[in-house]
Amino acid sequence: MIGQLHSPSAMAAFRTLIVGAGLGGLMAACSIRLESNHAVIVLETAARLQEVGAGIQLTPNATKLLLRLGLAESLASKVAEPVSFTFHRYSNGGVLGHRANYGAEMKEKFGGPFWDTHRADLQMALYEKAQELGVEFQFGARVTAYDFSKPTATLATGETLEGDLIVAADGLWSLARETFLDHPDPPLPTGDLAYRIVLKHAGITDPDLKRFIEKPSIHIWSGPHTHVIYYNIRGGTMSNMVLLAPDNLPPEVARAPGDIDEMRAIFKDWDPILKRFLDMVSSVDKWRLMHHDEMTSWTNDQSTMVLLGDACHPMLPYLAQGANSAIEDGVVLGRLLAAVRTREELPGALRKYEKLRKPRSSFMHNYAENQRHVNHLPDGEEQQKRDEILEKEFDEPGEDYPYYWLNPQMQEVIFGYDAYAEVDKVL
Ligand SMILES: Cc1cc2nc3c(=O)[nH]c(=O)nc-3n(C[C@H](O)[C@H](O)[C@H](O)COP(=O)(O)OP(=O)(O)OC[C@H]3O[C@@H](n4cnc5c(N)ncnc54)[C@H](O)[C@@H]3O)c2cc1C
Repeated sequence: MIGQLHSPSAMAAFRTLIVGAGLGGLMAACSIRLESNHAVIVLETAARLQEVGAGIQLTPNATKLLLRLGLAESLASKVAEPVSFTFHRYSNGGVLGHRANYGAEMKEKFGGPFWDTHRADLQMALYEKAQELGVEFQFGARVTAYDFSKPTATLATGETLEGDLIVAADGLWSLARETFLDHPDPPLPTGDLAYRIVLKHAGITDPDLKRFIEKPSIHIWSGPHTHVIYYNIRGGTMSNMVLLAPDNLPPEVARAPGDIDEMRAIFKDWDPILKRFLDMVSSVDKWRLMHHDEMTSWTNDQSTMVLLGDACHPMLPYLAQGANSAIEDGVVLGRLLAAVRTREELPGALRKYEKLRKPRSSFMHNYAENQRHVNHLPDGEEQQKRDEILEKEFDEPGEDYPYYWLNPQMQEVIFGYDAYAEVDKVL
């Protein structure tokens, strides 16, 4: 059965099917509706939005887009703005690098705040905004087949929906990507996995830990082949920790409950403060980190399908740019589609989207690999050189600062990007 047929020539009936209500898909949906009357229908496998994932860091390149969408109020109590950023020697917690007033400095320099939040809180805020803007949703709507020649998406229920364009925001394991490429195309293991931990502050009684969590902050401990990032979420009432370690999950498993003893054993010789946090953990999830080589194209020859976010550029989370860049994609694609008036204008819009977005995500993908090298240096000459730069540039990080978070040049490239301005240049 074909649901809701369309008339491609009539502008009001221009209809986009977005597959996936993740952060990228929701941002694209909002951006189309914010500047046009085009119909937008989001198809999502999940029966309802659930608390999937854990903390994510939102950098100014994405937060300024969220503010423009009007999410300041709905997110205000959910986010934590870090007051400082600290790099530690893994073995004893010694401070190697430190930036006070980090959040305030980023906001002033780049026009958007630095927010740490739970992925589910941001997803809910975007969903509510999308509803307000008139986006239609179908939950429990898993797409099992595509026909990009029409284009149509067929659901597990047997229903087939047709639109003028399918935006595939269906994440890491994208079926749309495989259909487009016409062969199986699973994402590739990076060799690392993540233990993701969320701790409520209400349960913390240890005075040293209480001091540590007093103000929202970011901490990174870099060790051999392993590193840890710590930050706060939910208005600073919770701590989020991601422990990155060599991947030992069985090949067929991408995510599994983690073994707490195994996790503690990896960090047994690390900073005592970190170990005290780990002593409080009662359950942990283990996620394989996956990525994908750069794709030749994100859109098909007929201009009926386009990919976005993790569906086309999953990357290591070591720059924390997976979601931020999916949000940028959503704004760029959404604004370009909002400006499309006839079907004939679609190919040009999709070409512009790909041209604006593909080089940037490839750069971030490669730079995240580079950052892994820096984060995971084993003790030795190269690690000593890295730490000497941190010491030398303690007060004023320079262009060779090894961690992008405090490197002024890289901040400019990543945090300074303005997706709105990029679209304005080509419209
Ligand atoms: C440990 C870890 C830490 C991270 N930290 C950060 C961070 O700090 N900052 C950051 O920016 N990024 C971070 N990321 C990356 C970030 O989470 C992802 O890049 C981002 O969520 C991708 O968004 P997306 O919308 O492209 O895909 P997803 O969020 O994966 O959304 C895809 C959606 O599509 C739906 N879907 C899939 N298939 C179908 C189908 N066939 N039919 C219908 N619906 C379907 C799914 O149910 C899902 O809702 C991290 C990732 C990991 C693993």
